[in-house]
Amino acid sequence: MIIVIRPHATKEQIAEVIAEVEKLGYTPAPIHGAAQTVVAAIGDERTHANLESLSVLPQVESVLRVQKRFKLASRESHPKNTLVDVAGVEVGGAKFCLMAGPCSVENEEQLLSTAEAVKAAGATVLRGGAYKPRTSPYEFQGLGKEGLRLLALAREKTGLKIITEVLSERDVEHVAAVADILQIGARNSQNFQLLIEAAKTGKPILLKRGMSERVEEWLLAAEYILAHGNPNVLLCERGIRTFETYTRNTLDLAAVAIAKKESHLPVIVDPSQGCGRADLVVALCCGAIAMGADGLIIEVHPHPAEAMSDGQQQVDFAGFQKLIETIPPFLRAVNKSV
Ligand code: PEP
Ligand code: MN
Repeated sequence: MIIVIRPHATKEQIAEVIAEVEKLGYTPAPIHGAAQTVVAAIGDERTHANLESLSVLPQVESVLRVQKRFKLASRESHPKNTLVDVAGVEVGGAKFCLMAGPCSVENEEQLLSTAEAVKAAGATVLRGGAYKPRTSPYEFQGLGKEGLRLLALAREKTGLKIITEVLSERDVEHVAAVADILQIGARNSQNFQLLIEAAKTGKPILLKRGMSERVEEWLLAAEYILAHGNPNVLLCERGIRTFETYTRNTLDLAAVAIAKKESHLPVIVDPSQGCGRADLVVALCCGAIAMGADGLIIEVHPHPAEAMSDGQQQVDFAGFQKLIETIPPFLRAVNKSV
């Protein structure tokens, strides 16, 4: 860290800062400029005390970090792309990953027909919420264990891998018994105890970005999973809250490029929650691929108008087919294929 001392600080005040830096376990290296002094504090910022508290001293102008706060998630610690093995399906390499399925698991017919349709179009992972995080307690909360049973049945019938959301620590064990990927939703993206419990299962985890989460915070949440011994993390950009009202959320494609630059973890884009409009899904998918995403997670429903959740943003089977026909040139441009 770098501690910038105010101009006109006395020798005693500078000595006080140097002594504090030493006390906190760093090696101080003062640099006396013509107008101001800075003290470089040498040591690992991630394991040593945070020197930002020194800014309470009147002679300290500012304290600057040098190292990133995340380590295991960073490209510096792991320059090559991480490949995550989802029960035999590799995510993060040249093969682009398509995850698709309904927002919520509603019944057997709905789930199985969707599974067959998305599989025929090229998806390898079936999404479907059994436990739903709904804004209102009066809205459909998901089928729970029955939903998990139907997801397991869909896997048995189609061979698709399963991604489904885990909402609470209480559910981790039985959701992990069915899921090939555990989804941690936007509302739980900084529920650190849930992240730790999910990490312990060793299952791949798709970590959504929180609605008002900065990229650094998102990567620090991923760091929790990695630091608890689970390297199988998929980052998922799903839009953030902004002032815009044309869309439900603002899909932050710049964050996809930043996450790919800063981290070695695969990045998946969710255009469905990302904009909340079925008519924009294809365009956003093309954009996501161009920005370097490793996969997409898309809501697909046999009759979106009758969906029990998020009907306005789910594409029907024909819409999903159209998407599959539109993306190949974008995939070729980034040397990927489905
Ligand atoms: C979902 O995938 O249906 C969902 C609720 O996602 P998010 O956590 O991104 O809102
Ligand atoms: Mn949804």
